Amino acid sequence: MNIEQGVRDPPFLRNVGLMLTYHCQASCAHCILRAGPDRHEEVSIEDAHDWIRQIAAYRNGYVYVLSLTGGEPFSNLKLLRAVMEFAAENKLYISVVTNGFWATERDKAKQLLKSLPEICFLSISTDLYHQKFVPFENVKNAMWAAQECGIPFYVSVVTDNKEDLAYQRIHTELLKLADPKNIRTGIIFPVGRAADIKDELRYSLSSEPCPEVCQASSSPCIFPDGRVYGCIGPLIDLQEQQPLYLGSLREHSVAEIFDRSETNAILHALRLWGPSHFLSWLREAGMEDHLPTVFVPGSICQACHTILSDPAVREWLHQLEQDIEFRRKVAYGRLYHLKETGMLELSGYSHLTGDK
Ligand code: SF4
Repeated sequence: MNIEQGVRDPPFLRNVGLMLTYHCQASCAHCILRAGPDRHEEVSIEDAHDWIRQIAAYRNGYVYVLSLTGGEPFSNLKLLRAVMEFAAENKLYISVVTNGFWATERDKAKQLLKSLPEICFLSISTDLYHQKFVPFENVKNAMWAAQECGIPFYVSVVTDNKEDLAYQRIHTELLKLADPKNIRTGIIFPVGRAADIKDELRYSLSSEPCPEVCQASSSPCIFPDGRVYGCIGPLIDLQEQQPLYLGSLREHSVAEIFDRSETNAILHALRLWGPSHFLSWLREAGMEDHLPTVFVPGSICQACHTILSDPAVREWLHQLEQDIEFRRKVAYGRLYHLKETGMLELSGYSHLTGDK
């Protein structure tokens, strides 16, 4: 899926995701991670402390926000509390993703959020898939409780088609409770668990890829086993065989991995130009046979995943990433379009950024 970009994501590396657990009360048909009640892999408290310490120390406090995700982070409250307390002690703001299963009653939900004062932001997921496991009433309670506790939030909804009446009904209900800019819609397509319901999905098709640029890849995400990915989108389905796999914390430090991500030219090309640009580059390189021809309109992640699913394309991108001119173009593109100097500095061009 991809999420509409009405709300701007934080700048590069200011927000870091930490996936606490694969466990979830729900086993939604669209879940990329295939989380569910039978999954029990979670981050150990020792690893969480070690990584949070490293994240907080990175470039003297460069990272502002730690986004806790899953699975369902509220599944293991003891772990959630311990991680949040430690992150707050390390001066990180905390945002948490949830499906709201815990908000069975308004007052209970408010009490729980009050007991978790470290939460600065909530991202609440609901849609047809979630509602098979978590009633919409819970989501409403969670939104009410967040408002009562002064916690800003947005609601993420996914659908295979925005024309779908059930989706529209949920969206209309949400509009009664939240500002439109705080409701984000993502389009799902067959990846992760959604691949198992491929034939049921009714997304429309187009010969044109979504032209957007990727904002989500500004926020890397750490998995419980130490793998770090440049985004928590569908590319993770390609495991380590893709340019946004940034490395493992079992082999490298947070600083090494984050510094390397500053100079990952493919990742930043996605942020600057979006996956649709890759098509013209591939065409120019004579790779017509490897160009996907069918896209899901409005889904940048589908364009990205479809293009990068081809091993020959990934190999070509790997070669492109070594190209000095391409790297310079990306580094300068970041300076001019995103006002980011990190890649120029780490590539030894800092004299051109005005910094000493
Ligand atoms: S890098 Fe690709 S898969 Fe990941 S969020 Fe961006 S567009 Fe989606």
